Formats: sequence, C-alpha cells, structure tokens
Amino acid sequence: MHKIILKKGKEDSLLRHHPWVFSGAIGRLPDSIEEGDLCVVEAQDGRVLGVGHYQIGSIAVRILEFGVSDLPEDFYYKRLLNAFSLRKTLGLIREDNDCFRLVHGEGDFLPGLVVDIYGQTAVVQAHSPGMHFARNAIAEALTRLPEARLKNVYYKSETTLPYKAHLDPENEYLIGSYDGNIAVENGLSFNIDWLRGQKTGFFVDQRENRALLQKYAAGRNVLNMFCYTGGFSVYAMRGGAKSVDSVDSSAKAAQLTDANIALNFPDDTRHRTFAVDAFKFLAEMEKDEYDLIILDPPAFAKHRSALKNGLMGYRRLNARAFEKIRPGGILFTFSCSQVVTREMFRLAVFTAAAQSGRKVRILHQLTQPADHPIDISHPEGEYLKGLVLQVD
Ligand code: SAH
Repeated sequence: MHKIILKKGKEDSLLRHHPWVFSGAIGRLPDSIEEGDLCVVEAQDGRVLGVGHYQIGSIAVRILEFGVSDLPEDFYYKRLLNAFSLRKTLGLIREDNDCFRLVHGEGDFLPGLVVDIYGQTAVVQAHSPGMHFARNAIAEALTRLPEARLKNVYYKSETTLPYKAHLDPENEYLIGSYDGNIAVENGLSFNIDWLRGQKTGFFVDQRENRALLQKYAAGRNVLNMFCYTGGFSVYAMRGGAKSVDSVDSSAKAAQLTDANIALNFPDDTRHRTFAVDAFKFLAEMEKDEYDLIILDPPAFAKHRSALKNGLMGYRRLNARAFEKIRPGGILFTFSCSQVVTREMFRLAVFTAAAQSGRKVRILHQLTQPADHPIDISHPEGEYLKGLVLQVD
C-alpha cells in the first residue's frame, strides 16, 4: 500500500472526517504512486488517518475509510448494503417506486461514486479514477445485494471523469444488457434514457418537489421551464392541471417529455411541448397566461469563477417569471449550482421579486431528497435549493 504523509498540522480536517485531502496538504508522495491507486494517509507524527483513492489535481485523495491502514474485506459490498438499507428506511423501495439514488458520493461514504437505480438496472458514474478502476468490483457487489434484485449494471462515466486522467472510459454494460427502460416513480412511469440522456438519464433529485407540485396543480395553467424528461409536467397532469406547457431548448428533451406524457396520459390534450430557448419563450409569452410556473434550469454557476454571472442569470430568469405570472400564481424556482449558497439564491430571487414590484410570500423552502444525503463533515454535498412562492 502506498503511503502519503501530510505536512505538519494538516491532519485536522481528516480528524473531523472531511473526506478530501488537498494537494497542498501533502508533505511526501511516494514516487511509484499512480492515479486511482489506493493509499494510506498518515499525519507527520505517524498517526494513521485513513485509506483512500489518490488522484492528480487539487483534491489529491478521497478518503474511503477513516482511521485504518487498509480497506476492510468486501468494502464496496458493505457500503452498498448500508446505502440500500437507508433507502429501505426512507420508504423508497416499493411496488410503485423503483427509481431512486442508491449512492450519492460522499453522502454515502463513497466519494467519487454515484449510482442511480431504475427498476432492475443500476447506472453507475465514476467521478474519480479510483472508482473507475473499481467499477467491476462495484458492479459485481451491486448484483449481490439481496433485496435489490439488480440484473443490469450500466457504466456511464465518459463525461464525469477528469479528462486529464486519460482513462478513456467507455459507456457500457458491465453486467447484463438492455432489457427495457421504464422506471416507476410514485406510481408514474418514465422512459429513462441512460444511453443518451443527461447525467444518469433522469433527475431523481426532484422526486419530492415534483410530488409537492402535484398538490398545487389542480385547475391551474402550468408552465414547466427546462422540462428535460417532463417530470414536473407529468405530476402536474396527475394533479389535475387545466393545461401544462413544457419548454426545453433541446429537441431530444422535448421528445422525452412527449413520450412520458403519452406513457401516463395517452391522448390527453391538456399538454403541449415547446423546443425553444427559455428566455425567448418567457420574453414572448403573454402576461397572466400561467398561474403555476416551474423554473428548474441547469446549473448557471458550475464553478466559483462563474458565480457572479450565474447569480445574474438566476435574477434575470426569475424576474421574467415575476413580471408575467398571474396574480395569485405559484412559482417553483430552483438552483442546482453547488457554489450558489441558499442565501445567495434567495437574494437573487428576492431582488428579482423586488424589481417586479410584486407581493411575494415564501410557502416552502426546498432541498435535495434524503436519498441524496449530506455528510455533515462534507457540507459541499448540499447543492439543490428551491423556493415555492406565492405571487400576488
Ligand atoms: N426539471 C428537469 C431537469 C432540468 S435539467 C427535471 O425535473 O427532470 C435542465 C434542462 O434545461 C435540460 O434539459 C436542458 O436541455 C435545458 N436547457 C438548458 N438551457 C436551456 C435554455 N436556455 N432554454 C431552455 N432549456 C434549456
């Protein structure tokens, strides 16, 4: 096992179980170590801090297990079993729900790994070279989980691994093969396109917010901006919306939305899809046309360097909605940018509200669901923020 020795005094965050070792904290790196290797990290005084995956970059080690000098036997299986047991506790494994996040990286003590479950298929994403090299062990462990009954494991890391690592990962089935792609969320069916779709194919993280939206939908004219697979739209239809318009700039997303509406509400004429830019749509739509608007854009600030522009983007987007929503309307507005804090997002939205001169009240403050847990030692794991606002 490679041994990495930290500079004097750099062990504090690890003793508090924050799982990242930054490159600047490293005193001595073994010559023979390569990206993705397992290593033991020690303080300068010889105290063993933990075992993790090494990688080149600002985050140099992601700790998998603290206070040990080797990984326990069957490490991945045990961690996955733990993760599965939490999802059971959360009540997510039911006849009418077979779609959830099984592993949320650091939040499940598996830094660098994401696993989403769609029926009998697990979609695995590695965000670190170490997890890339462990992919077959992880896939095999997934199929051993007794109650999960997984038959297929699809590996999808072409866009998630550091490109400088030259790992050339291929998106492929590690176990099983394609045998259907319909998953059920809260009794609604969705076509999940893990082969060509964004991320693992579906935004599982909006499940509870979609269910909340359903409760507000009855009799309303709903506008679902940045609809992707049409998740919010399908829930709005079930909630008894008068009409639902879904907007996404991607033609592929518009098709996915149409397919998911057809799957749950065939021949229902309440729904329309528009493959156009959100800002263009908002600029051209009539005032008072909608009284329930959802704004769930992609991350406007993917890095700290993009924070200022990102916040401006949220302010502008929300300003358009405040200007046009019918009095008494409800706005569901989100940010999934990790670098945008809850406070920053509120400020951007409230500034937009003030500029519009509308009277606005907060009804709900939303976040990511419990299958995207946040390890309190790793607050960076919190990313999804939402507000439900009543606009008079
Ligand atoms: N609300 C969705 C997830 C949204 S993901 C859900 O619940 O599943 C963000 C979506 O925004 C993507 O589908 C992307 O194609 C779309 N998008 C990005 N830029 C856009 C723009 N300028 N106008 C409209 N859609 C855009």
